[in-house]
Amino acid sequence: MNPAASGGRRPRIGIGGMHIESSTFSPHRAAYDDFRVTRGAELLDRYAWTRPDGELAGRAEWVPLLHAVSLPGGPVERGTYDRIKGELIERLRLAGPLDGLVYDIHGAMSVVGLEDAEGDLTEAVREAIGPDALISAAMDPHGNVSRRFAGRLDLITAHRLAPHEDAWETRERAARKLVERLASGSGRPHLAWVQIPVLLPGERTSTRLEPAKSLYGRLAAVEAMDGVVDAAIWVGYAWADEPRCRAAVVVTGDDPVLAVEQTRSLAREYWEMRRDFTFVGPTGGADECIAEAVASSARPFLISDSGDNPTAGGAGDLAYMLGRLLANEDLAAGRATALHPGITDPAAVAECFAAGPGATVRLSVGGGISRGRRTTPRPAS
Ligand SMILES: [Zn+2]
Repeated sequence: MNPAASGGRRPRIGIGGMHIESSTFSPHRAAYDDFRVTRGAELLDRYAWTRPDGELAGRAEWVPLLHAVSLPGGPVERGTYDRIKGELIERLRLAGPLDGLVYDIHGAMSVVGLEDAEGDLTEAVREAIGPDALISAAMDPHGNVSRRFAGRLDLITAHRLAPHEDAWETRERAARKLVERLASGSGRPHLAWVQIPVLLPGERTSTRLEPAKSLYGRLAAVEAMDGVVDAAIWVGYAWADEPRCRAAVVVTGDDPVLAVEQTRSLAREYWEMRRDFTFVGPTGGADECIAEAVASSARPFLISDSGDNPTAGGAGDLAYMLGRLLANEDLAAGRATALHPGITDPAAVAECFAAGPGATVRLSVGGGISRGRRTTPRPAS
Protein backbone atom coordinates (compact mmCIF):
# COMPACT_ATOMS: atom_id res chain seq x y z
CA MET A 1 0.00 0.00 0.00
CA ASN A 2 1.59 3.27 -0.99
CA PRO A 3 1.25 6.35 1.19
CA ALA A 4 -0.69 8.32 -1.42
CA ALA A 5 -3.50 5.80 -1.60
CA SER A 6 -3.68 5.11 2.11
CA GLY A 7 -3.59 8.79 3.05
CA GLY A 8 -6.18 9.79 0.47
CA ARG A 9 -4.00 12.66 -0.78
CA ARG A 10 -2.89 13.29 -4.31
CA PRO A 11 0.42 11.54 -5.08
CA ARG A 12 3.53 13.67 -5.57
CA ILE A 13 5.12 12.71 -8.87
CA GLY A 14 8.40 14.08 -10.22
CA ILE A 15 9.17 14.45 -13.92
CA GLY A 16 12.70 14.38 -15.27
CA GLY A 17 15.21 12.68 -17.52
CA MET A 18 18.03 12.93 -20.02
CA HIS A 19 17.30 12.23 -23.65
CA ILE A 20 19.79 11.71 -26.47
CA GLU A 21 20.63 9.04 -29.05
CA SER A 22 24.42 8.79 -29.42
CA SER A 23 26.27 7.07 -32.24
CA THR A 24 29.57 5.83 -30.89
CA PHE A 25 30.82 5.72 -34.49
CA SER A 26 30.48 9.50 -34.79
CA PRO A 27 33.49 11.63 -33.91
CA HIS A 28 31.08 14.28 -32.61
CA ARG A 29 30.90 14.80 -28.85
CA ALA A 30 27.67 16.15 -27.36
CA ALA A 31 28.35 19.08 -25.04
CA TYR A 32 26.15 20.93 -22.58
CA ASP A 33 25.06 23.49 -25.17
CA ASP A 34 23.72 20.70 -27.38
CA PHE A 35 21.01 20.03 -24.79
CA ARG A 36 17.82 21.95 -24.23
CA VAL A 37 17.55 21.91 -20.45
CA THR A 38 14.19 22.72 -18.85
CA ARG A 39 13.20 23.11 -15.22
CA GLY A 40 10.17 24.39 -13.30
CA ALA A 41 7.16 25.68 -15.22
CA GLU A 42 8.98 25.41 -18.54
CA LEU A 43 9.54 21.70 -17.96
CA LEU A 44 5.92 21.07 -16.94
CA ASP A 45 4.73 22.90 -20.02
CA ARG A 46 6.32 20.14 -22.16
CA TYR A 47 3.74 17.71 -20.81
CA ALA A 48 0.19 18.62 -21.84
CA TRP A 49 -1.36 16.36 -19.20
CA THR A 50 0.05 18.52 -16.35
CA ARG A 51 -1.48 21.77 -17.67
CA PRO A 52 -4.57 23.08 -15.85
CA ASP A 53 -6.85 21.64 -18.54
CA GLY A 54 -4.71 18.50 -18.88
CA GLU A 55 -6.02 14.99 -18.45
CA LEU A 56 -3.94 14.25 -15.35
CA ALA A 57 -3.69 17.79 -13.93
CA GLY A 58 -5.74 17.24 -10.78
CA ARG A 59 -4.78 13.64 -10.15
CA ALA A 60 -1.25 14.27 -8.92
CA GLU A 61 1.00 17.03 -7.67
CA TRP A 62 3.44 17.28 -10.57
CA VAL A 63 6.95 18.15 -9.43
CA PRO A 64 9.24 19.38 -12.22
CA LEU A 65 12.85 18.26 -11.70
CA LEU A 66 15.12 18.61 -14.73
CA HIS A 67 14.82 17.46 -18.31
CA ALA A 68 17.65 17.62 -20.85
CA VAL A 69 17.05 16.75 -24.49
CA SER A 70 19.38 16.90 -27.45
CA LEU A 71 19.14 16.01 -31.11
CA PRO A 72 20.91 12.73 -31.87
CA GLY A 73 24.70 13.06 -31.99
CA GLY A 74 27.92 11.49 -30.83
CA PRO A 75 28.70 10.33 -27.29
CA VAL A 76 28.09 12.81 -24.48
CA GLU A 77 31.18 14.42 -22.94
CA ARG A 78 31.73 13.07 -19.46
CA GLY A 79 31.64 16.53 -17.84
CA THR A 80 28.32 17.34 -19.53
CA TYR A 81 26.77 14.07 -18.37
CA ASP A 82 28.05 14.53 -14.82
CA ARG A 83 26.68 18.07 -14.71
CA ILE A 84 23.18 17.12 -15.91
CA LYS A 85 23.05 13.95 -13.81
CA GLY A 86 24.30 15.91 -10.78
CA GLU A 87 21.58 18.53 -11.10
CA LEU A 88 18.84 15.93 -11.67
CA ILE A 89 19.91 14.00 -8.56
CA GLU A 90 20.21 17.19 -6.52
CA ARG A 91 16.71 18.26 -7.54
CA LEU A 92 15.37 14.80 -6.70
CA ARG A 93 16.83 15.09 -3.20
CA LEU A 94 15.52 18.64 -2.73
CA ALA A 95 12.03 17.75 -3.98
CA GLY A 96 11.20 15.96 -0.74
CA PRO A 97 9.38 12.63 -0.61
CA LEU A 98 7.99 11.61 -3.98
CA ASP A 99 5.52 8.78 -4.62
CA GLY A 100 6.62 8.38 -8.19
CA LEU A 101 8.70 9.60 -11.10
CA VAL A 102 7.88 9.93 -14.80
CA TYR A 103 11.29 9.20 -16.28
CA ASP A 104 11.46 10.65 -19.79
CA ILE A 105 14.51 9.21 -21.56
CA HIS A 106 15.57 7.86 -24.95
CA GLY A 107 17.64 4.86 -23.90
CA ALA A 108 20.50 5.06 -26.42
CA MET A 109 22.67 7.67 -24.72
CA SER A 110 26.38 6.94 -24.76
CA VAL A 111 28.70 8.74 -22.42
CA VAL A 112 32.46 8.81 -22.88
CA GLY A 113 33.88 6.23 -20.46
CA LEU A 114 30.57 4.47 -19.64
CA GLU A 115 29.19 1.26 -21.16
CA ASP A 116 25.60 1.59 -19.93
CA ALA A 117 24.80 5.27 -19.49
CA GLU A 118 21.11 4.80 -18.70
CA GLY A 119 22.03 2.03 -16.24
CA ASP A 120 24.37 4.42 -14.45
CA LEU A 121 21.87 7.28 -14.44
CA THR A 122 18.99 5.09 -13.28
CA GLU A 123 21.03 3.62 -10.45
CA ALA A 124 21.65 7.14 -9.15
CA VAL A 125 18.00 8.14 -9.67
CA ARG A 126 16.77 5.10 -7.74
CA GLU A 127 19.18 5.78 -4.91
CA ALA A 128 18.04 9.40 -4.65
CA ILE A 129 14.30 8.75 -4.87
CA GLY A 130 14.40 5.80 -2.47
CA PRO A 131 13.17 2.21 -2.69
CA ASP A 132 9.44 2.91 -2.20
CA ALA A 133 8.70 5.36 -5.00
CA LEU A 134 7.54 3.95 -8.34
CA ILE A 135 9.57 4.91 -11.41
CA SER A 136 7.73 4.85 -14.75
CA ALA A 137 10.00 5.19 -17.80
CA ALA A 138 8.86 6.41 -21.22
CA MET A 139 11.34 5.36 -23.88
CA ASP A 140 12.21 5.16 -27.54
CA PRO A 141 12.18 1.63 -29.01
CA HIS A 142 15.68 2.34 -30.38
CA GLY A 143 16.90 2.52 -26.79
CA ASN A 144 18.51 -0.37 -24.93
CA VAL A 145 17.19 -2.14 -21.86
CA SER A 146 19.98 -3.70 -19.81
CA ARG A 147 19.28 -5.74 -16.69
CA ARG A 148 21.03 -3.13 -14.55
CA PHE A 149 18.70 -0.48 -15.97
CA ALA A 150 15.40 -2.41 -16.01
CA GLY A 151 15.95 -3.79 -12.53
CA ARG A 152 15.65 -0.32 -11.02
CA LEU A 153 12.39 0.59 -12.76
CA ASP A 154 8.80 -0.33 -11.94
CA LEU A 155 7.04 0.48 -15.20
CA ILE A 156 8.58 0.83 -18.66
CA THR A 157 6.93 1.60 -21.93
CA ALA A 158 8.14 2.62 -25.38
CA HIS A 159 6.75 4.07 -28.58
CA ARG A 160 4.81 1.54 -30.65
CA LEU A 161 5.16 3.31 -33.97
CA ALA A 162 8.29 3.92 -36.06
CA PRO A 163 8.44 6.67 -37.29
CA HIS A 164 7.49 7.76 -33.76
CA GLU A 165 4.14 9.43 -34.38
CA ASP A 166 3.07 8.29 -30.91
CA ALA A 167 5.96 9.82 -28.94
CA TRP A 168 3.76 12.04 -26.77
CA GLU A 169 1.16 9.31 -26.40
CA THR A 170 3.92 7.10 -24.93
CA ARG A 171 4.89 9.71 -22.33
CA GLU A 172 1.25 10.26 -21.46
CA ARG A 173 0.74 6.49 -21.10
CA ALA A 174 3.75 6.23 -18.76
CA ALA A 175 2.29 9.05 -16.62
CA ARG A 176 -1.27 7.70 -16.65
CA LYS A 177 -0.24 4.16 -15.68
CA LEU A 178 1.81 5.57 -12.82
CA VAL A 179 -1.07 7.76 -11.58
CA GLU A 180 -3.49 4.80 -11.80
CA ARG A 181 -1.05 2.58 -9.97
CA LEU A 182 -0.57 5.06 -7.14
CA ALA A 183 -4.30 5.84 -6.90
CA SER A 184 -5.26 2.19 -6.62
CA GLY A 185 -2.58 1.46 -4.04
CA SER A 186 -1.73 -1.70 -5.94
CA GLY A 187 1.97 -1.12 -5.42
CA ARG A 188 4.85 -2.37 -7.51
CA PRO A 189 3.97 -4.52 -10.54
CA HIS A 190 6.05 -7.50 -11.63
CA LEU A 191 8.37 -6.79 -14.51
CA ALA A 192 9.26 -9.57 -16.96
CA TRP A 193 12.33 -8.68 -19.00
CA VAL A 194 14.24 -10.41 -21.77
CA GLN A 195 16.88 -9.28 -24.21
CA ILE A 196 16.90 -10.85 -27.68
CA PRO A 197 20.31 -11.42 -29.34
CA VAL A 198 19.28 -9.55 -32.52
CA LEU A 199 20.30 -6.03 -33.47
CA LEU A 200 18.60 -4.41 -36.44
CA PRO A 201 18.83 -0.82 -37.69
CA GLY A 202 15.81 1.47 -37.61
CA GLU A 203 15.67 1.41 -41.41
CA ARG A 204 14.60 -2.24 -41.27
CA THR A 205 12.04 -2.06 -38.49
CA SER A 206 9.47 0.49 -39.61
CA THR A 207 6.09 -0.37 -38.12
CA ARG A 208 4.49 0.75 -41.39
CA LEU A 209 5.79 -2.51 -42.90
CA GLU A 210 5.53 -6.16 -41.98
CA PRO A 211 6.59 -7.95 -39.91
CA ALA A 212 7.10 -5.09 -37.43
CA LYS A 213 3.59 -3.78 -38.14
CA SER A 214 1.84 -6.92 -36.86
CA LEU A 215 4.30 -7.53 -34.04
CA TYR A 216 4.00 -4.02 -32.61
CA GLY A 217 0.31 -4.09 -33.42
CA ARG A 218 -0.04 -6.93 -30.90
CA LEU A 219 1.12 -4.83 -27.94
CA ALA A 220 -2.23 -3.12 -27.30
CA ALA A 221 -3.95 -6.51 -27.01
CA VAL A 222 -1.30 -7.75 -24.56
CA GLU A 223 -1.65 -4.54 -22.56
CA ALA A 224 -5.42 -5.06 -22.38
CA MET A 225 -5.09 -8.52 -20.77
CA ASP A 226 -6.31 -8.91 -17.24
CA GLY A 227 -3.21 -8.87 -15.03
CA VAL A 228 -1.00 -6.94 -17.49
CA VAL A 229 -0.17 -3.24 -17.06
CA ASP A 230 1.98 -2.56 -20.13
CA ALA A 231 3.94 -4.27 -22.89
CA ALA A 232 6.82 -2.94 -24.94
CA ILE A 233 9.34 -4.08 -27.55
CA TRP A 234 12.71 -2.45 -28.19
CA VAL A 235 14.62 -2.83 -31.44
CA GLY A 236 17.73 -1.54 -29.66
CA TYR A 237 20.32 0.83 -31.04
CA ALA A 238 22.55 -0.39 -33.85
CA TRP A 239 25.00 2.54 -33.89
CA ALA A 240 26.72 1.98 -30.58
CA ASP A 241 29.29 -0.72 -29.89
CA GLU A 242 28.12 -1.64 -26.40
CA PRO A 243 27.19 -5.05 -24.95
CA ARG A 244 23.69 -3.87 -23.98
CA CYS A 245 22.69 -2.98 -27.57
CA ARG A 246 20.10 -5.51 -28.73
CA ALA A 247 16.36 -6.01 -28.91
CA ALA A 248 14.33 -6.43 -25.71
CA VAL A 249 10.81 -7.12 -24.49
CA VAL A 250 9.30 -6.06 -21.17
CA VAL A 251 5.81 -6.88 -19.95
CA THR A 252 4.75 -5.43 -16.60
CA GLY A 253 1.77 -6.67 -14.63
CA ASP A 254 0.25 -8.04 -11.46
CA ASP A 255 0.17 -11.58 -12.81
CA PRO A 256 3.84 -12.64 -12.92
CA VAL A 257 3.14 -15.88 -14.76
CA LEU A 258 1.20 -14.11 -17.49
CA ALA A 259 3.85 -11.36 -17.73
CA VAL A 260 6.61 -13.93 -18.25
CA GLU A 261 4.48 -15.90 -20.72
CA GLN A 262 3.70 -12.83 -22.81
CA THR A 263 7.29 -11.59 -22.70
CA ARG A 264 8.50 -14.99 -23.93
CA SER A 265 5.89 -15.11 -26.66
CA LEU A 266 6.74 -11.63 -28.03
CA ALA A 267 10.49 -12.31 -27.79
CA ARG A 268 10.19 -15.66 -29.54
CA GLU A 269 8.15 -14.08 -32.32
CA TYR A 270 10.80 -11.37 -32.77
CA TRP A 271 13.52 -14.03 -32.91
CA GLU A 272 11.62 -16.13 -35.43
CA MET A 273 10.98 -13.21 -37.77
CA ARG A 274 14.47 -11.71 -37.41
CA ARG A 275 15.36 -12.42 -41.06
CA ASP A 276 12.05 -11.06 -42.38
CA PHE A 277 12.53 -7.40 -41.41
CA THR A 278 13.01 -5.42 -44.59
CA PHE A 279 14.35 -2.01 -45.51
CA VAL A 280 11.72 0.67 -46.14
CA GLY A 281 12.83 0.94 -49.78
CA PRO A 282 15.18 -0.68 -52.32
CA THR A 283 18.85 -0.50 -51.28
CA GLY A 284 22.09 -0.04 -53.17
CA GLY A 285 25.43 1.70 -53.34
CA ALA A 286 25.56 5.44 -54.02
CA ASP A 287 26.37 5.22 -57.76
CA GLU A 288 23.73 2.54 -58.27
CA CYS A 289 21.07 4.66 -56.54
CA ILE A 290 22.02 7.80 -58.45
CA ALA A 291 21.94 5.95 -61.79
CA GLU A 292 18.51 4.55 -60.93
CA ALA A 293 17.26 8.01 -59.99
CA VAL A 294 18.50 9.55 -63.25
CA ALA A 295 16.93 6.75 -65.32
CA SER A 296 13.61 6.81 -63.45
CA SER A 297 10.62 8.89 -64.52
CA ALA A 298 9.61 9.40 -60.87
CA ARG A 299 10.12 13.01 -59.77
CA PRO A 300 11.24 13.86 -57.20
CA PHE A 301 13.26 10.69 -56.68
CA LEU A 302 14.41 10.52 -53.07
CA ILE A 303 17.65 8.83 -51.99
CA SER A 304 18.28 8.45 -48.28
CA ASP A 305 21.89 8.13 -47.09
CA SER A 306 21.53 5.90 -44.06
CA GLY A 307 25.28 5.91 -43.49
CA ASP A 308 25.32 9.54 -42.37
CA ASN A 309 21.87 9.88 -40.86
CA PRO A 310 21.71 12.84 -38.48
CA THR A 311 18.48 11.54 -36.94
CA ALA A 312 20.34 8.42 -35.79
CA GLY A 313 23.45 10.14 -34.47
CA GLY A 314 25.41 10.64 -37.72
CA ALA A 315 27.35 13.91 -37.93
CA GLY A 316 25.59 14.89 -41.18
CA ASP A 317 28.85 16.35 -42.48
CA LEU A 318 30.00 13.69 -44.92
CA ALA A 319 30.47 14.93 -48.48
CA TYR A 320 30.53 11.42 -49.93
CA MET A 321 27.07 11.56 -51.58
CA LEU A 322 27.79 15.03 -52.93
CA GLY A 323 31.01 13.71 -54.45
CA ARG A 324 29.15 10.84 -56.11
CA LEU A 325 26.47 13.22 -57.44
CA LEU A 326 29.16 15.44 -58.92
CA ALA A 327 30.80 12.40 -60.52
CA ASN A 328 27.61 11.39 -62.37
CA GLU A 329 27.87 12.28 -66.06
CA ASP A 330 24.17 13.00 -66.59
CA LEU A 331 24.11 15.38 -63.65
CA ALA A 332 27.39 16.99 -64.71
CA ALA A 333 26.05 17.54 -68.25
CA GLY A 334 22.82 19.04 -66.95
CA ARG A 335 20.59 16.28 -68.35
CA ALA A 336 19.26 15.83 -64.82
CA THR A 337 19.38 17.97 -61.70
CA ALA A 338 19.83 17.00 -58.07
CA LEU A 339 19.32 18.75 -54.78
CA HIS A 340 21.62 17.77 -51.91
CA PRO A 341 19.72 18.93 -48.84
CA GLY A 342 22.59 19.75 -46.53
CA ILE A 343 26.04 19.17 -45.15
CA THR A 344 26.96 20.49 -41.73
CA ASP A 345 29.78 22.97 -42.32
CA PRO A 346 29.60 26.29 -40.45
CA ALA A 347 32.87 27.56 -42.02
CA ALA A 348 31.57 27.02 -45.57
CA VAL A 349 28.29 28.76 -44.70
CA ALA A 350 30.25 31.71 -43.30
CA GLU A 351 32.22 31.95 -46.56
CA CYS A 352 28.93 32.02 -48.53
CA PHE A 353 27.57 34.81 -46.35
CA ALA A 354 30.83 36.73 -46.73
CA ALA A 355 30.64 36.42 -50.53
CA GLY A 356 27.08 37.77 -50.54
CA PRO A 357 23.99 37.08 -52.66
CA GLY A 358 24.60 36.18 -56.30
CA ALA A 359 28.30 35.52 -55.85
CA THR A 360 29.94 32.29 -57.01
CA VAL A 361 32.21 30.64 -54.49
CA ARG A 362 34.56 27.71 -54.68
CA LEU A 363 34.54 25.69 -51.47
CA SER A 364 35.63 22.49 -49.82
CA VAL A 365 32.70 21.15 -47.82
CA GLY A 366 32.09 18.61 -45.09
CA GLY A 367 34.48 16.79 -42.83
CA GLY A 368 34.40 19.50 -40.16
CA ILE A 369 33.41 16.89 -37.59
CA SER A 370 34.38 13.70 -39.45
CA ARG A 371 37.91 14.89 -40.17
CA GLY A 372 39.60 14.04 -43.44
CA ARG A 373 36.35 13.51 -45.29
CA ARG A 374 36.00 16.69 -47.28
CA THR A 375 35.05 16.95 -50.90
CA THR A 376 36.16 19.68 -53.24
CA PRO A 377 33.69 20.25 -56.06
CA ARG A 378 35.12 20.37 -59.57
CA PRO A 379 35.36 23.86 -60.99
CA ALA A 380 32.23 25.00 -62.81
CA SER A 381 32.66 24.61 -66.59
ZN1 LIG B 1 13.70 5.93 -32.26
